[in-house]
Amino acid sequence: MIIKPDDLPADFSLDSIINEANRCVACGLCLPHCPTYRITLSEADSPRGRIALMGGAASGRIPMNARFALHIDRCLTCRACEAVCPSDVAYGKLVDGARAVMASSSPDLPNERTVMRKSRFRRLAESELIAKPARLDALRPLLRFYQRTGLQKAARKSGLLEKTKLAVLERQLSRVGAPHSAAGTKGMVNTWQAVYPPIGKPRGEVGLFLGCIARLTDVATLNAAIFVLNRLGYTVQVPSRQTCCGALHQHGGDRQAAVQLARQNREAFDGLNLQAIISTASGCGVQLAEYAFCNGTEMPEEPDLAQSSARQGRSAGRPRNEQAADFSAKVMDISAFLAVADGWDDVTLAPLPQKIAVHETCSLRNILRGAKHSYALLARIPGARIAPLAGNDQCCGAAGTYFLDQPEMAKALLRDKIAALDASGAHYLATSNVGCAMYIASALREAGSEVEVLHPVTLLARQMGM
Ligand code: SF4
Ligand code: SF4
Repeated sequence: MIIKPDDLPADFSLDSIINEANRCVACGLCLPHCPTYRITLSEADSPRGRIALMGGAASGRIPMNARFALHIDRCLTCRACEAVCPSDVAYGKLVDGARAVMASSSPDLPNERTVMRKSRFRRLAESELIAKPARLDALRPLLRFYQRTGLQKAARKSGLLEKTKLAVLERQLSRVGAPHSAAGTKGMVNTWQAVYPPIGKPRGEVGLFLGCIARLTDVATLNAAIFVLNRLGYTVQVPSRQTCCGALHQHGGDRQAAVQLARQNREAFDGLNLQAIISTASGCGVQLAEYAFCNGTEMPEEPDLAQSSARQGRSAGRPRNEQAADFSAKVMDISAFLAVADGWDDVTLAPLPQKIAVHETCSLRNILRGAKHSYALLARIPGARIAPLAGNDQCCGAAGTYFLDQPEMAKALLRDKIAALDASGAHYLATSNVGCAMYIASALREAGSEVEVLHPVTLLARQMGM
């Protein structure tokens, strides 16, 4: 199939793909940095090859067929290529654009030939659960019951889920925890408070982004972030209307859902007097930080802008792109914020004479360019020996839902991480993205390893007495 303007999502410009692809001078500097090229050694699985494919399809020179989809599907969107490109080709923007086209156009791309054609079950999960995280909160008691009563062990033993993708997800499920609650609260709380007040001298106000799956599977990190921020003197606001960041939808070609989620998040945090909007998962952090350029094109104005703005405090009457830019400018990864936060002189950290290997997530390393902050944060722990995990320039293979869609490629990348960790002699693996943490931790559990995988802020909170 040749792409025609009619095949494109309404707000997507064919020229934007061609123009961006034309910025590539084919120098090849990105090739050795691309994890999929390193594995297959095929030009079509390299950034340069994929850019040529996308530019060729957009200009009608090559068909957008199953073979095209194979190479685009294999891309991890790790954006290691973008980080080293001397021509500043916006690869992430390009590939998201191509995927939006693949998801919206039909002939020549039969369902089974591209991950952009999602199963009904996955579409339902993305629209009715992931995009509505209050429903995920409602699942918390059920999942805790499942994990704590032996049901989980029985289900695993029965092999009922085996051979389905659910089994892969279930194996990754970490212990589902309960949200941080105010001192004196009795019983388990099921959601976060709207405000967590500071302890000691007040130093400012920040917002906390909870994410979707993370509010079930990474409660420890969210609670640790609140604990550390409060003890440094920061009030933590947790707006209840916030939702999923939309990364999964955007990378899966569903631009409409991504735009809608971005809008809901902007409105949820709007009107609060915040120094920063803190993200504890770097994958979500990238999406939030790029809201002004959601899915490769600028945020479209929406017809009900006037009404919507009237509902919003300080953003009333301002163009949507400006609102998005303001929101994104405030987004900070928790480690980056804590690196410049005040209040450290008022807290004491217990020593931890152990080795901590640091896994640099692609989103933090290649896009937010903030990997150094994880090291700086961990260096506050007396006695800790901190070292980068060998092979940090390569993705671990988790990459959103990549591990489900491209299991062989993902496993090959994961094997390298486990081997590097074995060789490191570390007791802890610190990583700043929940998806990477779950993927690596489940492999370690299966291998019987005792290395603990956790977010740097969780380790810090522990040493501060949480
Ligand atoms: S480094 Fe940039 S310009 Fe060079 S081949 Fe890769 S994408 Fe193209
Ligand atoms: S995003 Fe990652 S996997 Fe995709 S082309 Fe770039 S370096 Fe390769």
